[in-house]
Amino acid sequence: MPELPEVETIRRQLAPLVEGRVLARLEISDPRWCLPLAPEAMVDALQGRRIERLGRRGKYLVWELADEAFLLMHLRMTGTLLYDPPEGTPYSRVRFALDDGHELRFCDPRRFGTGELALGAAARDAFFAARLGLEPLDGELTGAALRAMARGRRAPVKAFLLDQRRIAGVGNIYADEALFRARIHPLRPAGSLKAAQWDALAVAVRETLLAGLAAGGATIDDFRHADGVAGAFQDEFLVHRRRGEPCPQCGGAVVKFVAAGRGTYACERCQPRPRLRRRGR
Ligand SMILES: [Zn+2]
Repeated sequence: MPELPEVETIRRQLAPLVEGRVLARLEISDPRWCLPLAPEAMVDALQGRRIERLGRRGKYLVWELADEAFLLMHLRMTGTLLYDPPEGTPYSRVRFALDDGHELRFCDPRRFGTGELALGAAARDAFFAARLGLEPLDGELTGAALRAMARGRRAPVKAFLLDQRRIAGVGNIYADEALFRARIHPLRPAGSLKAAQWDALAVAVRETLLAGLAAGGATIDDFRHADGVAGAFQDEFLVHRRRGEPCPQCGGAVVKFVAAGRGTYACERCQPRPRLRRRGR
């Protein structure tokens, strides 16, 4: 699934191509994309308006159109936005025709991607306030902020990192990579981390996301840039998807296990596994 660096990569590519253009025609061929809103209502609200800005919040692309009409797009598992794709590109769900003759196509084989409408900045802010926590690249992510949110939490630190209502935009890849960099085992109860570990983790999350962004995101499964090119961050993974390969720090074997319900990769020499508590106390 695209995470923050992948969505931000798409945003940076598309923003200069769409900002200032008029959305001349919006064609929604799959009504499930904007449920519960009817496609006609989405078209009525957006078609013919100027695109003022293409922004991002967490893993959402935020289209700001004239008079504060916002389209909030989530790509989910397999969604990609392609600029002037070749004729016959499969799995097209939505077509955005611009007034300069170019077009954007939202292609999404598994059809989990969504488009939601917010009319007015207050509606947009309320939408995100209910769903997303702090924005990791905006200077809000500090060890102290993480530690305060995690106080008393017994859930594994990996589950804590994946919870979008705490930190927006971090998914399975970047959680594994950040925990490795911070030398913290993914199954450590979040509330048990020391202040210095939270500081290290805040730095690691930020560095991992920035490294992903510098590589144009990671391409596993279907993620593609707006021009159809793949990202390269998967070639730089330290532990994610590297089961059995040598740890880049100590040379021990990277192991795979399940944490927070997700396939998880770590080096258990560099990231010591938490000791089991005795039951029945
Ligand atoms: Zn190691």
